Amino acid sequence: MKTPVFALIDCNNFFVSCERIFRPDLEGKPVVVLSSNDGCVVARSNEAKALGIPMAAPAFKYRQIFHNHKVVQFSANFDLYGDISRRITEILATITPRIEIYSVDESFLDLSELQIADYRDWGQKIREIIWNWVGVPVSIGIAPSKTLAKLASDRGKKDAELEGVLNLVGVTDREKTYHLQVLPLQDVWGVGWRLAPKLRAEGIMNAHELSRLRPLHAQQLMGIHGRQLIAELNGISCYPLDNIGKLRHSIARTRTFGQDTNNLYALEAAIASFATQAAFRLRTSNQLTRRAAIFLTTSKHKPGYQRWTREVAFSVPTADTGQLITALIAELGKIYNPSYRYHRAGVMLWDFAPANMLQTDLLGLVNVGAHIRSTSRMSAIDNLNEKFGKHTLRFAAESLGTVWKPKYNLRSPRYTTNLDELPLLHILSD
Ligand SMILES: [Mg+2]
Repeated sequence: MKTPVFALIDCNNFFVSCERIFRPDLEGKPVVVLSSNDGCVVARSNEAKALGIPMAAPAFKYRQIFHNHKVVQFSANFDLYGDISRRITEILATITPRIEIYSVDESFLDLSELQIADYRDWGQKIREIIWNWVGVPVSIGIAPSKTLAKLASDRGKKDAELEGVLNLVGVTDREKTYHLQVLPLQDVWGVGWRLAPKLRAEGIMNAHELSRLRPLHAQQLMGIHGRQLIAELNGISCYPLDNIGKLRHSIARTRTFGQDTNNLYALEAAIASFATQAAFRLRTSNQLTRRAAIFLTTSKHKPGYQRWTREVAFSVPTADTGQLITALIAELGKIYNPSYRYHRAGVMLWDFAPANMLQTDLLGLVNVGAHIRSTSRMSAIDNLNEKFGKHTLRFAAESLGTVWKPKYNLRSPRYTTNLDELPLLHILSD
């Protein structure tokens, strides 16, 4: 068997980098992207990091710093980020089908089967392609395990001398030790804020010291996960690529409202919209759900915080948007009380079955005609919306109110996904 080789491709300051594609004037300037309702900082340019603005900083606390240093602020533009992410994945998928999309801005590739003479060179080329074709800077780490690949991409990002790429395959022990020594313990993938204090108490301060831990001791401190982590840090791959036939176990869509509300229509519209998004996700993963729930909460920041949940079970698993909306809005009616002002709501789906199961095992129990009609109705809606834009065909309940929609006061245009928001080019002639 060949030794495994993994690459992690990680986009730098991803949301900020997406904004800069269409605003090259922001290169070198401090930029932040704010979460829904412009509440917290969810992405920072290097210049903003240098000003000491932490991740998840509440925007209101940093108003003065934003003002003094002319920090450019954006509301999150998830349509844009999602589209840019998809374009990068498309490029990566042409290199190898062995790809794991780890998050919106990170993907692992399994390079074991590819003929690559010089990994560093290869990494530089991929970096260049993504920069030239999409316009997003990435860092790339290449290593015999996923944990080391993640560590290497982190080093590639932070050490300017590496020019965005660090390869740990076939390098000297000395070089490897150096990169592990400079990586703080809490930045090791799988350690995080929970395990770090425990390990520090053992005198372990960086990735190198962690890699020297005896496996048995690691297991005592961190469970079986600890043993695997130590092996991974020593270049023995324990975590395979997590891609093939990956099934979701639950889907949730939740939002904080733009303003607190007791308007039943607005709540129904929110629930209908979440149900629509969740059902679509369910269908794209070829699954059906047996259970669904809604929740409502008042504001945590106001006295008398409350949370309500209602659950429904489906005797026949479903991915039908209309059926989910009807069932969940009925549940909403049971907990709704006009004397509360609601702050947040959500829809959850779980307990899934594969979509093809209904066509095989359950046929005897199911109203086959209804199921077939539902399936073709849903795929007609999905096809139309894919062809003509997200909300071309929708359930009426979604349009009942808009107060639930989050505020995006500072959002950039959806340059790549909305025809009305295409960038304009002004040509001056004399
Ligand atoms: Mg990133």
